[in-house]
Amino acid sequence: MTARRKLIAGNWKMNGLKADGLDLASDLAGRLKGAGPVAFDMLVCPPFPLLFPVGEAIADSPLALGGQDCAPKTSGAHTGDVAPTMLKDAGCRFVILGHSERRADHGESDAVVNAKAVAAHKEGLVAIVCVGETEVQRDGGQANAVVSGQLAGSIPAGANAENTVIAYEPVWAIGTGKTATPDDVKAMHAHIRAELAGKIADPDKVRILYGGSVKPGNAAELMAVDNVDGALVGGASLKADDFWGIATACR
Ligand code: PEP
Repeated sequence: MTARRKLIAGNWKMNGLKADGLDLASDLAGRLKGAGPVAFDMLVCPPFPLLFPVGEAIADSPLALGGQDCAPKTSGAHTGDVAPTMLKDAGCRFVILGHSERRADHGESDAVVNAKAVAAHKEGLVAIVCVGETEVQRDGGQANAVVSGQLAGSIPAGANAENTVIAYEPVWAIGTGKTATPDDVKAMHAHIRAELAGKIADPDKVRILYGGSVKPGNAAELMAVDNVDGALVGGASLKADDFWGIATACR
């Protein structure tokens, strides 16, 4: 069996001002430094304006920094967009792409996510590519087909286990308090693993995260499921105790 180190990623979304971000990131960085060897990598993805101050505050710690999105271009006349080079400059190693909130709020298609991943890879960033079905799609028996289509469209040529992470986030579980059952997560992660063959180099080494109302109370059970290689966490990543509780539930 391939050993994959767990990745616990916090998506702060559009939450927190500078002081909040610095408090949270410094708290987590301190815990990580004091913990000695741990069974997980930890990542925080603050809103864009907080990337530089948070990046500076955690620079000498194992806590990694990521963006929540990036443009598919490196520079130029693209008002409001942020280039992967800018994320790198702020100290980011990761970028979340194709989150369902961006797909819904900004009409991001698989082709757009794919182009963004190409641009991120060019700068040496690890792209966390998000996929997941809506409740209507799951109820209609289309969950696997929807996720297969998103994977096929969003994963670019040149993707490998070093530069790409997949996050399975059923849309109906995000921010709702509902989580997929461990059996459903197991089935979908196995499906994703099988779909990665042929689309990505070293499919067995790619980390597949689960996201959707992960909390300290359900983390141990979810993180123990086959092919679950970590979590993408929204709400519970905004409280140091909760996020730390999720991470330390990893074995
Ligand atoms: C997310 O936004 O990626 C997410 C999983 O949110 P939450 O943990 O709040 O459901």
